[in-house]
Amino acid sequence: MRLQGDPVQADGEPADRPCLINIWIEGKFVEPGPVAPKSFRLAGGGGQHHHDVFFCEACGTTLWSRYHIVPGDCLFVRAGTLDTPEAVKPDVHIYTRSKLPWLMLPEGVPAFQTGYKIDEVWSPESRERLRRNRAGQA
Ligand SMILES: [Zn+2]
Repeated sequence: MRLQGDPVQADGEPADRPCLINIWIEGKFVEPGPVAPKSFRLAGGGGQHHHDVFFCEACGTTLWSRYHIVPGDCLFVRAGTLDTPEAVKPDVHIYTRSKLPWLMLPEGVPAFQTGYKIDEVWSPESRERLRRNRAGQA
């Protein structure tokens, strides 16, 4: 799988295996591999905020998620499934409260015990991309 554009944002989640990197990116920039992805739907809390999980039909690997609470067509791509996963580094680390103690996070990269507010963390350029995507101008 490849990205045809730069990520809007890359969130590292060091609590998850042991560091999942979720890339926010517009769906138009995501080029799946040779096998067409399949999806299933996970229910969210209170029957709302469900999301669709897309996976490789050949090997079962999760590729990306689409959260319906997020307006626009942004996908949350698992960086580890890219052809060149080393090309993406986390802009921030989130949910560090669940981080395993032996995992050392790099100096100089913002880290949050839980999530964060986009307006306080994202660059003006990334916020503008999200605004345009929500407005259907992506
Ligand atoms: Zn596969």
